[in-house]
Amino acid sequence: MSEIHLLSTEQLITGLQDKQFSSLELTEHYLKRIDALDGKINSFITHTSETARAQAQAADEMRAQGDKRRLLGVPMAHKDIFCTQGVLTTCGSKMLHNFVSPYNATIVSNIDKAGMISLGKLNMDEFAMGSDNSSSYYGTVQNPWNLERVPGGSSGGSAAAVAAGFVPVATGSDTGGSIRQPASFCGLTGIKPTYGRVSRFGMIAYASSLDQAGSMGKSAKDCAYLLQPMIGHDPRDATSIKHDIPDYVQDLNDAEAAAGDKPFEGLRIGVAKEYFSEGLDSEVEQAVRTALKQYEDLGATIVEVNITDPEITLATYYMLAPAEASSNLSRFDGVRFGYRCENPADLVDLYTRSRSEGFGPEVQRRILTGTYALSAGYFDAYYTKAQRIRRLIVKDFDEAFADCDVIASPTSPTAAYKLSEDLDPASMYLGDVYTIAVNLAGLPALSQPVGLTSDGLPIGLQLIGQYWQESKLLSTAHLFQQHTDHHLQHSLIAKETV
Ligand code: GLN
Repeated sequence: MSEIHLLSTEQLITGLQDKQFSSLELTEHYLKRIDALDGKINSFITHTSETARAQAQAADEMRAQGDKRRLLGVPMAHKDIFCTQGVLTTCGSKMLHNFVSPYNATIVSNIDKAGMISLGKLNMDEFAMGSDNSSSYYGTVQNPWNLERVPGGSSGGSAAAVAAGFVPVATGSDTGGSIRQPASFCGLTGIKPTYGRVSRFGMIAYASSLDQAGSMGKSAKDCAYLLQPMIGHDPRDATSIKHDIPDYVQDLNDAEAAAGDKPFEGLRIGVAKEYFSEGLDSEVEQAVRTALKQYEDLGATIVEVNITDPEITLATYYMLAPAEASSNLSRFDGVRFGYRCENPADLVDLYTRSRSEGFGPEVQRRILTGTYALSAGYFDAYYTKAQRIRRLIVKDFDEAFADCDVIASPTSPTAAYKLSEDLDPASMYLGDVYTIAVNLAGLPALSQPVGLTSDGLPIGLQLIGQYWQESKLLSTAHLFQQHTDHHLQHSLIAKETV
């Protein structure tokens, strides 16, 4: 029982089915770990221990009565960007420090309906803006592999909680890399699906045309289990798309059954020199190239492709994302919900002070940049131009996918770094160089662990797929994980027993 948190989601499901443990015992095990160890990493903002216990007990009763839902009674936790009815939903911001959501995000309801047990709400960069969880109003999050390092962001709490063995899987959101980069920093697998695959209803908006929810776990199969209940058309999200619903876990099992000793025969992996550019850490490059060689040894063919210069992509993202954010965040004005300043003199004072006091510096920086880019006189020069480049990024990916099935790259140019007061925002933005094109194009992508640096920090490999090819991405990672053990390495905190 003491190492139950090192099991995969599938092993947890089997254990529940075979009555090796009950959902209540499982839940208590994770709650005890969170209680004893989260003080070291600060991954949770809100605990829902009491409802979790009640749900686990109910799940055990339902199972005894023959309920066969496969995720019934399996614990998880949500990034605090998803609205959860009756539970504090802060989005990592002082602006929402007192916001108890009156409704559930669609994915929260769907995961509930699948019978999973939510243990709470996870820390994150404020309004999902950031790459190291340092902008959270609730404090920084420590990387469970090395407490002096950042966990990545913005889904830093999600990544840290899974890597620490506090939950087997967690939800995240990804606007420019916020699932993939923290997954990479914390030695996890994390997938951002095709734009429109998962409902955005009830996910607090950062940049609506880029935001997409996804799943994080120790392996591709863990991700597949959690992603399943998340997907599907939702009439409450106008950008949600009707599309076939695959069974991801079944797809992985089928891929495994069909695989011979060269499981990747016929798979063309595109590699772009633009993704191995200046600024890429040599140990990261080495691990990624070694993994690519392993893919080749297992039958894959590596082909050279071209994609848009990442520097151009970076500038495009950091124009469009703040522009959308400035519009989305205008709803937080101190009037109907969230933070309100003390003793406003008049309405303008109420707006101004509530927003200046409620938003942190990174969020304010983006609102200002975005407002500037959208203002009359600058709109064409910045916003329209960025939209045009966005179209070219889509075209470049389309052309690249004519020659390959998936594109591989490092997820991040470096492994997890130390938090430093002097890290200027522009250098932090540079860390997103390999992840953001995917969001601009709306493509699915995942990050999977491919080794450790000499300091023992995880390194991630990104796989990008064509639209709707989540199954292909997951099976490409899953079959690799059948032949390697990077995903089976555990962080320092995960190795602690309580
Ligand atoms: N680091 C990127 C940013 O700060 C991506 C964030 C995200 O994906 N939510 O915008």
